[in-house]
Amino acid sequence: MQLELLTIGDELLLGLTVDTNAAWLARELATDGVSVVQRATVGDDATRIAAAVRDALDRTGAVITTGGLGPTADDLTKPSIAAFFGQRMEFHAETWDRICQRWRERGRPGDPPEANRQQALIPVGAQVLPNGHGTAPGLLLEDAAGRWVAMLPGVPREMRGLYEDELRRRVRQRLGEARSVIRSRTVRATGVAESQLPELLGDIAQGVDGMSLAYLPGVEGVDLRLTVRGAAPDVADARLAAGAAIVVARVGKYVYAEGHIDLAEVVLAACRARALRLAVAESCTGGLLGARLTDVPGASDVLLGGVIAYDNDVKRAQLGVAAETLAGDGAVSEQVAREMAAGVRTRFAADIGVGITGVAGPGGGTAEKPVGTVWIAVDILGDVRTYGGRLIGDRAEVRFRASQVALDMMRRALVAPE
Ligand code: AMP
Ligand code: MG
Repeated sequence: MQLELLTIGDELLLGLTVDTNAAWLARELATDGVSVVQRATVGDDATRIAAAVRDALDRTGAVITTGGLGPTADDLTKPSIAAFFGQRMEFHAETWDRICQRWRERGRPGDPPEANRQQALIPVGAQVLPNGHGTAPGLLLEDAAGRWVAMLPGVPREMRGLYEDELRRRVRQRLGEARSVIRSRTVRATGVAESQLPELLGDIAQGVDGMSLAYLPGVEGVDLRLTVRGAAPDVADARLAAGAAIVVARVGKYVYAEGHIDLAEVVLAACRARALRLAVAESCTGGLLGARLTDVPGASDVLLGGVIAYDNDVKRAQLGVAAETLAGDGAVSEQVAREMAAGVRTRFAADIGVGITGVAGPGGGTAEKPVGTVWIAVDILGDVRTYGGRLIGDRAEVRFRASQVALDMMRRALVAPE
């Protein structure tokens, strides 16, 4: 099945809102076996919306739109597409009831404003896709020739919810049993250069079992993405699982996860499995490591807390870093990182202490300690590992990479096969 996407909104044309809806839908549709063959964006303009829908239907006969279903005068998607289909709009009592109910559930006084009534107007003959995530329902209109338009709201969370709850099922029905999909699976590696990977992968460096293999380097490491094209869903999933297992075996200790899992989650699980509790002392990362750990639900059974020890006085007073070390070795040094890790571990009565100190830039670099110089210590019950090196990138990247190295040192100490 071929399909086109039409995203609607002046803010998209102005570049004030990035069109994440089109990217998200394209990914999901591919995994369901639909090829998106063209994408377009138009502003809040009835004539252009109708023209774009007409052109897309002429080409492919199937369009998904997002945006312009709201309660205000610039929300024109429904009336313009209804007019193009030659349908008038009628009041849909069930949708109005849902809107009123939602209004009350949110604790708002009285009845919804008149403007919301617009959202309960439905083109005659349209299927209503109830919106469990907001007020504007989605709509599906089909003409006598079987050409169809699905309209989803613009708010990304509502758009995703409606696709998952209502539209995915209908798309799959249209595809029938014989659908063939494009699916991917990602193996995440870190602490390894992209250029080292072909050697580790050997004869599968270009792909495994007819699946393509993409190398996606970034601040977290290198993601290796396997993609199957044109297979039945079950077959695709089985081939991806088998292919990923081979990639994992070859890349070995550098692999920390599969899919969309952050390294912080892996480290928390490793600590939890060993009943180890963690405390962090952060200088140049300014709490980023703590933030990544606390982003993971349930972190509190592992993470005790941390100190943002930016100033030397805080390193001394809160962590017990010796004044002589700060004066002698300097704040960015192996010994300071060690004393920060040991200090936070003992003061928080944790099992693991982490200390991070570095020069994030853009200022503050010297010939001896250029921007990007970072020292990290991981102290596990007094057994200490350190890292010293120069991380590349701008301030944000240096800070992120430092948090990633610290997490990977913990992972490697706790779980990685050597
Ligand atoms: P609308 O349904 O057109 O009223 O859009 C509601 C909100 O959703 C807008 O304020 C945008 O912030 C957001 N939005 C609309 N279209 C998109 C899109 N294609 N990608 C990301 N966000 C969007
Ligand atoms: Mg809009």
